[in-house]
Amino acid sequence: MNALSATNRNFQRAARILGLDSKLERSLLIPFREIKVECTIPKDDGSLMSFMGFRIHHNNARGPMKGGIRYHPEVEPDEVNALAQLMTWKTAVANIPYGGSKGGIGCNPRDLSISELERLTRVFTQKIHDFIGVHSDVLAPDMGTNSQTMAWILDEYSKFHGYSPAVVTGKPIGLGGSLGREGATGLGVVFATEALFAEYGKSIADHTFVIQGFGNVGTWAAKSIFERRGKVIAASDISGAIKNPNGIDIPTLLKHMDNNGTLKGFTGGDAMDPNELLVHECDVLIPSALGGVLNKENAADVKAKFIIEAANHPIDPDADDILSKKGVIILPDIYANSGGVTVSYFEWVQNIQGFMWDEEKVNHELKKYITSAFKDIKKMCKTHNCDLRMGAFTLGLNRVAQATVLRGWEA
Ligand code: GLU
Repeated sequence: MNALSATNRNFQRAARILGLDSKLERSLLIPFREIKVECTIPKDDGSLMSFMGFRIHHNNARGPMKGGIRYHPEVEPDEVNALAQLMTWKTAVANIPYGGSKGGIGCNPRDLSISELERLTRVFTQKIHDFIGVHSDVLAPDMGTNSQTMAWILDEYSKFHGYSPAVVTGKPIGLGGSLGREGATGLGVVFATEALFAEYGKSIADHTFVIQGFGNVGTWAAKSIFERRGKVIAASDISGAIKNPNGIDIPTLLKHMDNNGTLKGFTGGDAMDPNELLVHECDVLIPSALGGVLNKENAADVKAKFIIEAANHPIDPDADDILSKKGVIILPDIYANSGGVTVSYFEWVQNIQGFMWDEEKVNHELKKYITSAFKDIKKMCKTHNCDLRMGAFTLGLNRVAQATVLRGWEA
């Protein structure tokens, strides 16, 4: 099932639970605006390359639209559409005053030089600058993009509209980025796991974790788990997978990755089959990379008792049904990975206030938001007798539906 059908299915299930009016349901599902732009740039050798870029504005009932920009070969309109919709529910679950959007360029950033990436980012920004803004649509990093990408967007946007740091979040600190934003999604994943574990009287310490995907989110989650004496017993990235039943020494692994770029060649663990990693025996599985990695082919073999969706839509609906029947507890993406956009909100607030918070305040506020969203989700689970995914979806949908109705329909 493709990402959009999967996301729509969750949306429709939640709309049915809430008993939403069918016209309101339709207006909440269909994106507000879809932008598709062609971006041609000269390569370093002078020849031309062209790429398709997208920005999808899903909903702005609760505030400016907010969402990342992804650079990946699999970026296509349906996927971006699904991710934009997830941002609408995610910001509503987190209870931050935003709507949802997402963007991306179909490219492989690993095949582009730094100056080609800069040119591509600037051309993309030139084509969408009239549709983004501090109070209309605020961008952020996602897969394949980072604080440098945000700096280029900020610079290019500012040529047209004057200096506007709050048009992007996840910026370098020197340009108004927030302390704590770099690690916020991973730390948020761990705060969310702690909120869930508190229900079972468990703590991170001494539990075993498997992390699929060792990019920004996976590495920061691993770091926070290690600091809490949890054991990361297997991890993977694009170069392969490693395991160590006694727990991988995460600081040493991160040093290895700083020097080598990937986890390949790390001697503090044994190589393993990356496909086996997802079904490896552990307490907690944290998929932190692409969508759809757990599907009907492998879901029945999963041995984890808990799955924390650090990635967006890593479990497709078929797998969701299989895993729920097996009694696996799943913490859904629109809650589990909301730490990134929550600290993005703090960054935007700091830019608008012109006042910088220290890291302690950022992390303290993040924990407050994550803990309180978990309580709100649990209330929905109780009211509607549903699982955590539907608890989160009904919470998000309900907040957006209420805002839509409050704003009225008069043209
Ligand atoms: N790309 C991240 C996400 O999917 C962060 C978005 C943001 O900070 O706006 O949640």
